[in-house]
Amino acid sequence: MSTVLITGVGRGIGEELTRVLLARGDRVIGTVRDPAKVLAEWRTYVENGQLRLLKLDVRDEVSIAEAAKQVDEPVDVLINNAGIIGPQQQSTLDMDFEGFLDTLRVNTLGPLRVVQAFLPHLRRSSEAKVVTVSSRMGSLSHAKSDRIAYRTSKAAVNKVVQGLATDLADDGITVISVHPGWVQTDMGGASADITVQQSAAGLVKLIDDLTVAQTGSFFDWTGEAIPF
Ligand code: NDP
Repeated sequence: MSTVLITGVGRGIGEELTRVLLARGDRVIGTVRDPAKVLAEWRTYVENGQLRLLKLDVRDEVSIAEAAKQVDEPVDVLINNAGIIGPQQQSTLDMDFEGFLDTLRVNTLGPLRVVQAFLPHLRRSSEAKVVTVSSRMGSLSHAKSDRIAYRTSKAAVNKVVQGLATDLADDGITVISVHPGWVQTDMGGASADITVQQSAAGLVKLIDDLTVAQTGSFFDWTGEAIPF
């Protein structure tokens, strides 16, 4: 049994990851922006102590620090899942710059802030893993120019992941980026390639099989290594 911290468990991929991990007996610390909204869904697991719901907005350093203070156990796996697609106008020729900054704040700075805040908890685990849900759309080998704010934020978080992998190597902490597939969620839309169940099952297997030798890599939900 592991303790897994996941950001953004109220819906989408984070919600399904939580469901799968709880069903097989892991302990989950799930973060949400508004715990009252999701409590009814998870009440049984909250009451039996298998799930802790913490209020956390990845934009807000104070809320991250407050959440970290409430956790006094080792964290074996940290999944940076929370993310946004960014503003309506996000092409290079028509950019909502405030929206662009907000996208970077959530998708790039957010994961780093969360890792920093929970580093003491990760260091207390014997085999800690940090998994950041990035996107193939951030791959620098793609020349596509739609959704530049989103793509840039994911390319940048991949760089953060590489840096963390190097800087946490001496701690034995495995740090990777993952592409969850094009998934049927609010973000992915109804015509996306795969269901949230397929994505979450693939990601859980990938995380289970992950070894420290793979730190600094980028994988898709099937376990295939992809270029940064
Ligand atoms: P959803 O839009 O369905 O869910 C996004 C989640 O992120 C919600 O739980 C949301 O919480 C949370 N969130 C957003 N902003 C913040 C914030 N400031 N602080 C804390 N939580 C926040 O998206 P998905 O489940 O599809 O996406 C999950 C991850 O997967 C994202 O990082 C996304 O970029 C990535 N991804 C998704 C793909 C897809 O096809 N769906 C493809 C590639 C990558 P709230 O309910 O409070 O808004």
